[in-house]
Amino acid sequence: MVFAPDTAEALEAAVILANSALEPDTLTTVEDLSAFYEGQGYSGSHRGDRAELDAVRAVRARLRVLLLADRDAAVGQVNEILAGASAVPRLVRHDKLDWHIHAVDDDAPLAERVLVETAMAMIDVVRADEMGRLGVCAADDCDGLVLDLSRNRSRRYCSTTCGNREAVAAYRARQKA
Ligand SMILES: [Zn+2]
Ligand SMILES: [Zn+2]
Repeated sequence: MVFAPDTAEALEAAVILANSALEPDTLTTVEDLSAFYEGQGYSGSHRGDRAELDAVRAVRARLRVLLLADRDAAVGQVNEILAGASAVPRLVRHDKLDWHIHAVDDDAPLAERVLVETAMAMIDVVRADEMGRLGVCAADDCDGLVLDLSRNRSRRYCSTTCGNREAVAAYRARQKA
C-alpha cells in the first residue's frame, strides 16, 4: 500500500474529476455530478443544483495544477488551500468507513471539500516524496492525468482505452518495419 486508503481514494477522485474536464467534458449536468458523488463514495452536503455543479467544475483546473505540481510548488498550493478553507483536521469514523481524516465540516460546499481533501492527500504525497505517482498519460494526444498506485510503478496510461490504443499503434508500427 503506497498511501493510506483515504489518501488513495481522495487522489483517485481528484484525478477523475480533473480528467472530466478533458474534451469531451464529462461533467456538464447535475446528474453527472451526482454520479461522481455517489461513485466516489462521498458523504456530506450535496445540493445537486447548478450552482454546486458550476463550483465543482471551476475547481478542476486548480486540481490539475496541484496534482501535476512539482514538490515545492505543491507545498505552497496545499498550504494556501488549507488556510483558505480554515481547515481543522480531525479523525472521524462514519458509515462503513474506518478512521480517516476530515478537515472541513460535512456541510461545507462540495467543491471546497473536494479541494481540501485533495490538499490533505497531497500532504502525504509530498511527505513521502512520491510526486512521481502523478503524471500525464503516455498516449499520444492525451492530456489525461495518471495516478500510479501500482507496486512496480508501471502505470502509464490514464485509461484502458488509451493503453489499448497505444498497444494497437505499436503493433501496427512493428508490422510496417
Ligand atoms: Zn468521511
Ligand atoms: Zn490517456
